[in-house]
Amino acid sequence: MSGDNSDRVDFQDQPITQLLVKVATRCNIDCDYCYWFRDASVYSKPKLMSPDVQHRLLQRIEEHVVTYSLVDFPIILHGGEPLLWGVANFHRFAEACDAISSRTGCDIPIAVTTNGVLIDDEWLTCFEARNISVAISIDGPAHIHDLHRKTFQGTGTHAAVERAARMLVSRNIGVIALAVCNPAYAPRHYADFFAACGISNYDIMIPDATVDERPPSIAAFYKGLFDLWLEANRTTPTTDIRIISDMITALLGNNSPTEGVGHKPVELCTVMTDGSVEAHDVLRIAGDGYTSTHFNIFDHAIDEIRKEPRWKAARDASINLCAKCRQCKFMNACGGGYLPHRFSKTNGYDNPSVYCDDLYSMFENMQSILESHLYVSKPDGGRVNVHDTLA
Ligand code: SF4
Ligand code: SF4
Repeated sequence: MSGDNSDRVDFQDQPITQLLVKVATRCNIDCDYCYWFRDASVYSKPKLMSPDVQHRLLQRIEEHVVTYSLVDFPIILHGGEPLLWGVANFHRFAEACDAISSRTGCDIPIAVTTNGVLIDDEWLTCFEARNISVAISIDGPAHIHDLHRKTFQGTGTHAAVERAARMLVSRNIGVIALAVCNPAYAPRHYADFFAACGISNYDIMIPDATVDERPPSIAAFYKGLFDLWLEANRTTPTTDIRIISDMITALLGNNSPTEGVGHKPVELCTVMTDGSVEAHDVLRIAGDGYTSTHFNIFDHAIDEIRKEPRWKAARDASINLCAKCRQCKFMNACGGGYLPHRFSKTNGYDNPSVYCDDLYSMFENMQSILESHLYVSKPDGGRVNVHDTLA
């Protein structure tokens, strides 16, 4: 890290505010851009979380929410492919979290991120009954999705995933579609596909890359996506595109709810299938074993991860930006970009995002459009021009 602390911003320490739980370490498909399997150490973990680990994890969750008097503690079930854990385990886990909520008064919303291939009526009933919200990974239409998201036999998975996405939206289940941006295609390909499926809440995520790589430019794609978002929401809100609403939220000076946008500490902890506790999951993009620690839920409370040097380094890096970012007029809105995109083998996280030029241009475009077109309604019915709010 840079030795110059003059422009550093202090953030108050928070308890761990959300938990990523790896309930399965293997996957039933073979996406070629998957960061998870870039780290060979995941193969040393048990394929599925055992009942013993689940039991101890639930005890640690209750201990954590009581210690910090939390009013909510979101949990994301993740993998590999988390549905490989089985529907009975999902029922048991959600039921136990409900019981913790009743005892402690802490809301414990559960979400799952899945590739969707295994979803059937039994899963839908489980998600609906247990109030589990679902993020389904689907890269828009088949001609984009099937380029990267394939079976182990090399065929596309789109047909199975689209079927699952349509089943989810037909039920009373909170659904968000998660796509990865392919800047070779216009954003309209994604927007039209999601509209046709009845999906009004989606994200198109920036492709993962470190500073040591040379990913293609994404600015034109996201400017086009912002135009589509404006078009869809001009008179009434109809479509939520998460990265766009997060960028607007951050640009208007508020905390964006997701970790990829804005200047704030990353306070996330990952629990693996064997109960070991790791640093931010996606940092395994940096290499084998990069997130592993000596902490585990059998010997350590969830919050003890905060003392672990590797976790602490990532958390501190999320707020201590490099010199260029500290001088940037979009520092608060951009926050230096998503943490893994700031990593290089020589400097660690002491870099602007590998997408810095793109991010700057995306924020500048967004700011100029917001300034010229939008106003904020006041409770008394008056209006404030967004230009004045940004100022
Ligand atoms: S579905 Fe997710 S975990 Fe499985 S290969 Fe694809 S990106 Fe990786
Ligand atoms: S636009 Fe570039 S310089 Fe500015 S905060 Fe983002 S990554 Fe840093």
